[in-house]
Amino acid sequence: MIIMGLTLTRIHSQISKRGVLSGFSSGLDAEVIKQIKRMCPQIEKMRFANSGTEAVMGAVRTARGFTGRTKVAFVEGGFHGLQDEMMWKVNLEGWNMKSDSNPEVIPFGAGQRPNTAVCCNPTGLQLLSLNDFEMLEQYFKKHGNMTAAVMIEPIIGNAGSIEATKEWLQRLRDLCTKHGALLIFDEVKSGFRVAKGGAQELYGIYADLTTYAKAMGNGYPVACFGGRKDVMDVIGSFKGGVVHGGTFTANMIAISAAHATLEILENTNALATVNRVGTDIMKVLGRVFDAHKIEHTFSGPPAMFGIHFTKNVPMNYRDWRKEDYELYGKFAWNLIKYGVMLEPDSREPWFICEAHQTMDLKWLENVAMRAMSEACLITQPVTKSP
Ligand code: PMP
Repeated sequence: MIIMGLTLTRIHSQISKRGVLSGFSSGLDAEVIKQIKRMCPQIEKMRFANSGTEAVMGAVRTARGFTGRTKVAFVEGGFHGLQDEMMWKVNLEGWNMKSDSNPEVIPFGAGQRPNTAVCCNPTGLQLLSLNDFEMLEQYFKKHGNMTAAVMIEPIIGNAGSIEATKEWLQRLRDLCTKHGALLIFDEVKSGFRVAKGGAQELYGIYADLTTYAKAMGNGYPVACFGGRKDVMDVIGSFKGGVVHGGTFTANMIAISAAHATLEILENTNALATVNRVGTDIMKVLGRVFDAHKIEHTFSGPPAMFGIHFTKNVPMNYRDWRKEDYELYGKFAWNLIKYGVMLEPDSREPWFICEAHQTMDLKWLENVAMRAMSEACLITQPVTKSP
């Protein structure tokens, strides 16, 4: 995901011209590790990967190798890449919201090995619902001592940036520590975006392992995972160690892109700009929704905010089902028609980049007014941009 802009010569000009593979350390990889460690103090050791999916796979395998346990839990509404065992979700569309029952857990799609759910949880797959203390306590009571890791996006970048409360996240942290389970923060979306140190800097709560991708290379294919030294030390080709690597990991293109991107993020006020522009855009949209008398609430930080057509800030993915996401879909498709290229599914937050600072907010307000009026089937007067 782009954090600064698409056409940045300050990054493109820094991309390696010495080919893709070096086969050994170029020295620049060590520099990137130092950059990351300065911004993310919980990273004591780390490994490179090519995509978020790969980083998650590496982190989960490392957690299993370190703990000697198999079970991994994760949170409803989160997304952790395209590997079979992470591709299970709750069927909210088919869920009777008024019943006390939990929604059914289903695979993302065809072709997945059914036994991967069993692998996640030998006694039946159970996802956790964000901010549900009762469910969290019950989970750890029953499964804590067999859990290798709990994986979470603390700000769910794949469910409208619904946020874990600090209290709930702290309780999750404490329960993981108590039961010897590792806490993995998947910061593929929030990393190097919501703050230099990602969601962990905002919460002041730190994971044992973290995954990063997207913003770290401003769109170039680079990712990594890392964390506690004692945990990462289980990786190695020595007898019994966790195996990790790959032909393209830490390749020259990826490393030089990460180096150029992180240099800007660390040493300029790019993220402050992203934050300011995101705040301004939320204000514009808030005015548009107010003008149409639409109950709404925003969630998540300005760099990746979610829009919810509902009165109360949603606390978990199940709450999303109770919103008017159909109206949002109509609004979003109309915006696309007028040239605002966004994902029309309300579960996808608005990801702001530094280049958005040149956007004409008046124009945005006009087209958003028009898009919402059409979505509501009301004709509103549209003021012209100066
Ligand atoms: N984790 C999270 C939180 C993601 O949002 C994504 C992708 N959207 C992934 C992992 C997988 O990353 P990739 O597409 O780079 O494999």
